[in-house]
Amino acid sequence: MTSPLRVTETDETSGPARPQIAIQNPATGETIGHVPNLDPAGVGAIVDAARAAQPAWEALGFKARAALMRDMQAWLLRHRSEVVDAVVSENGKTREDALLAELYYVIDSFGYWAKRAEKILRPRTLRTHSPFLLGRKLMVERRALGVVGVIAPWNYPLTLSVGDAIPALMAGNTVVIKPSEITPLAIGVLVDAAREVGFPEGVLTVANGDGETGAALVDRADFIMFTGSTATGRKVGARCGERLIPCSLELGGKDPMIVLEDADVERAANVAVEWSMRNSGQICLSVERAYVTAPVYDEFVSKVTQKVRALRQGEPREEGSVDVGAITFPPQLDIIERHVDDAVAKGAKVLVGGKRGTGRGQFFEPTVLVDVDPTMACMTEETFGPTLPIMKVADEAEAIRLANDSPYGLGSSVFTKDLERGRRVAQQLVAGSTWVNDAIMSYLGQEAPMGGAKDSGLGARHGEQGITKYTRAHTILVTRFALRHEVTMFPNARPRSKVLDAIVVALFARPGRRKG
Ligand code: NDP
Repeated sequence: MTSPLRVTETDETSGPARPQIAIQNPATGETIGHVPNLDPAGVGAIVDAARAAQPAWEALGFKARAALMRDMQAWLLRHRSEVVDAVVSENGKTREDALLAELYYVIDSFGYWAKRAEKILRPRTLRTHSPFLLGRKLMVERRALGVVGVIAPWNYPLTLSVGDAIPALMAGNTVVIKPSEITPLAIGVLVDAAREVGFPEGVLTVANGDGETGAALVDRADFIMFTGSTATGRKVGARCGERLIPCSLELGGKDPMIVLEDADVERAANVAVEWSMRNSGQICLSVERAYVTAPVYDEFVSKVTQKVRALRQGEPREEGSVDVGAITFPPQLDIIERHVDDAVAKGAKVLVGGKRGTGRGQFFEPTVLVDVDPTMACMTEETFGPTLPIMKVADEAEAIRLANDSPYGLGSSVFTKDLERGRRVAQQLVAGSTWVNDAIMSYLGQEAPMGGAKDSGLGARHGEQGITKYTRAHTILVTRFALRHEVTMFPNARPRSKVLDAIVVALFARPGRRKG
């Protein structure tokens, strides 16, 4: 789809304070739309409107909010092609990736949180262990935080923006999304749709613009959900710390794959190719490096090479037209090229690909590298491109050591037919998620948290934490059977202190009980 997309009404009413941003189709180089580049005042106006809309939105209650989420599901089902067109044209990914990893995911998320939010966030009465609370009722309720700012990257424009907005909305917050400046159009389509199905004004809005626009949102929102690079994530986290607002940061990764000598090599090769090349490797959870034990190394390399050579790359048109699309973010091409060149200069061999595409659009050939080692950037820095460096290792222990030798800890995978061994290796890998004989798939199980260890982030999306993070706990204690004067109240008196001391000893110094 190449017809120019319009900007959202929200942006038009806020008014562009700076020159508009032109949006290009990365597969063709054509300009397909424009969005405003909001200055801090423009962001302030959007956040003020979101803040004004929040109390009524929270007061609507879970059932009414869930009904609107289901209306969005229905809208998305009716407008599948329109949404996929918008994603493909601004991101350059294949229609298959847009369908499964964006449209399907977002449709599923609307229903998932509509069904579960109330159960997770409902008020709870706690049975307390404390004898001092006898006759008192201890309750925890969850309150919305206010305005949640979602700052999104360009690799999954909908999943990593609207996907994170849904639980925030179900928790009773209003949401302002700051899309990546190079992929804002599909988000605009969904925000317009939300208004069409009846979301009240100000509940789900978009603040388009560049990094400065994102920083202005961090300065004003009550919670920040950020997905992007570790470098920017640190800045966002630091600013949230200064403002004492909570944030959740899903950052970069350098996911290792370990293939042990007892693996199903055919499956390992298929998963490696799929999840290093899908979306041109522009996934935070991509397989970015493979460690293969010596007995199966040659077989694995041969299978991977054959499969990568067979991939079809080009401008994504109709379904099935290509396997690998474009590189979305122009500077990413330089990073990918630098990693390949650095590896070759240090002795690596390119078995497939290795170069930028020629002609219009931004492409990098699906690339397989061998004879790589940990001194090379392709083994240590996030490449975010269609490359798979494969390193031979002696055994399981060396594979685990090298896999963990990284500042990142987002995902990791291990291949072995011995499932107990797989679980044991998984437990030794430092990562937010580990997959045995698989990659990435836990992302679709929204019951489980998805987050990062080390420099890969803080907090998580999905799981109970994926919605409780958008709330603050409010503890309420109700004293039902209240004495007018309790024994612990003033005045302090020595005999009473002795009784209390005896109670402490009676409670905690029982025979056989461990000290400390
Ligand atoms: P960034 O981390 O810079 O951008 C992510 C989002 O943050 C964008 O919306 C960006 O806006 C916004 N932003 C930029 N600066 C600030 C700021 N100071 N305060 C608040 N928000 C800000 O990622 P890039 O797009 O520059 O990509 C850089 C690298 O990050 C890639 O090479 C890749 O390695 C990695 N990456 C990781 C992703 C992941 O899923 N974990 C996703 C994308 C990239 P704008 O785009 O308008 O500048």
